[in-house]
Amino acid sequence: MKLYNTLGRQIQQFQPLKEGEVSLYTCGPTVYDYAHIGNWRSFVFDDTLRRVLESEGYKVKHVMNITDVGHLTSDADEGRDKLEAGAESRGSSVWDVAEHFIEIFIKDSEKLNILPPNGYKENRSAYARATDFIDEQIGIVKILLDKGFAYKTDEAIYFEVSKLDSYGKLSGQKLEDKEVGAREDVVTDANKRHPQDFALWFFTVGRFAGHEMKWHSPWGTGFPGWHLECSAIIHATLGDPIDIHTGGVDHIGTHHANEMAQTEAAFGNKLANFWVHNEHMLVDGKKMSKSLGNYITLEEVLKRGYAPADLRLLYLQAHYRSQMNFSWEALTAASVRLKGYRAFADLRFQPGGESALKNEAYIKIQDEINQALADDISTPKALSLLDALAEQAQDKGSEREPLVGFLKFIDNALGLELLASEDINTQQKRLIHQREQARAIKDWKESDALREALNKQGLDINDTSRGPVWSRG
Ligand code: AMP
Ligand code: ZN
Repeated sequence: MKLYNTLGRQIQQFQPLKEGEVSLYTCGPTVYDYAHIGNWRSFVFDDTLRRVLESEGYKVKHVMNITDVGHLTSDADEGRDKLEAGAESRGSSVWDVAEHFIEIFIKDSEKLNILPPNGYKENRSAYARATDFIDEQIGIVKILLDKGFAYKTDEAIYFEVSKLDSYGKLSGQKLEDKEVGAREDVVTDANKRHPQDFALWFFTVGRFAGHEMKWHSPWGTGFPGWHLECSAIIHATLGDPIDIHTGGVDHIGTHHANEMAQTEAAFGNKLANFWVHNEHMLVDGKKMSKSLGNYITLEEVLKRGYAPADLRLLYLQAHYRSQMNFSWEALTAASVRLKGYRAFADLRFQPGGESALKNEAYIKIQDEINQALADDISTPKALSLLDALAEQAQDKGSEREPLVGFLKFIDNALGLELLASEDINTQQKRLIHQREQARAIKDWKESDALREALNKQGLDINDTSRGPVWSRG
């Protein structure tokens, strides 16, 4: 299998550290608000990657964190904690806000048929909450101070980036270049030694004096900086280095650079062998984001009558490393395409016929789809292969067993739930049969009336050489 590795900026042959097993970590949501469908593009991609790895035969251990503390509005050390701000605007406690949005996140994940993380605990806490790993985070701060990679001011404990030669290797940006980009208009700790130094632990003083989430530490009461949780959770659950670390491209420069630095400095280990980043979803050419206010939630998509699988297919139509522009028209087109796949899936309930597609046809396409997916997760290519096969099957009909096997494969690899649709009921079968009898004696009036009755129940009938073939309208 080949994957594009941000570390090294090229497509590389993927080889796990342990034969047959893959450790996968995903930076999860910050739970102060709804995830938008740009965020979901990221999480559906992680899920697709995991499904493809599993379909390649790997046992995947997947851990995803949930950020419920320390993520400041700037992604760096400026601004407010997103959770605290969210709680203030809603007039409730930070803990309640976190609980509320974790619940919604998990429900939406289920709707989108995203497999729950399995590498931490086999229950609801399969998601690793940052606030459940405070001791582990304090442990890392301790090591970094002891090793001389961190220093303390009155406001925070910082990681000193100039102490680590490899700092910034993920983005390829030199420290000197980043310094130029650092904003001068924001008020930061005057005792910070370098603008790129980042907080490991904030003290609840000054702008954070009223912080609701806080813990005791050997250096003073406070809360962890955002980047620290991922290093701590990976170390505690999967162990570093892991095989694959994922996230959106916006994380490359700061969050992932800092996670990497913490782990390398504290444990002398690489954090991950492969860094796989997905591109953004845009609206009118701009990144979909909460700060720009141009975002759409899954709830709104469903309210407008689309199914979660329509959105999933929309994501799969673009390669994960290309930006994609969201529009309702594009979502409608994906929905129509999905209907075509469902009609193909329904053929397993239809008459087969002489020239019906057989096992060999399915095996051949399955191999080709596997090759496309193993080639840096080329979902657009996989879908075009699926289109060609579905079209052939609609023309010729299909044998039942191989089609069911193939649908199972597609559902496992792409999560489209094509097998979920059910056969028509006996009464509907009877109507189709009666219509055939009416047609045999050329009673067109009766056959039209029966067609209409079926249409009313949401079934379209197509008369083919193999007999009547129905699909859901
Ligand atoms: P957050 O909850 O802000 O930490 O973001 C969760 C995930 O969504 C991260 O991996 C981000 O990189 C990703 N993300 C944020 N905005 C977008 C977008 N417009 N398109 C795709 N992914 C995004
Ligand atoms: Zn992270």
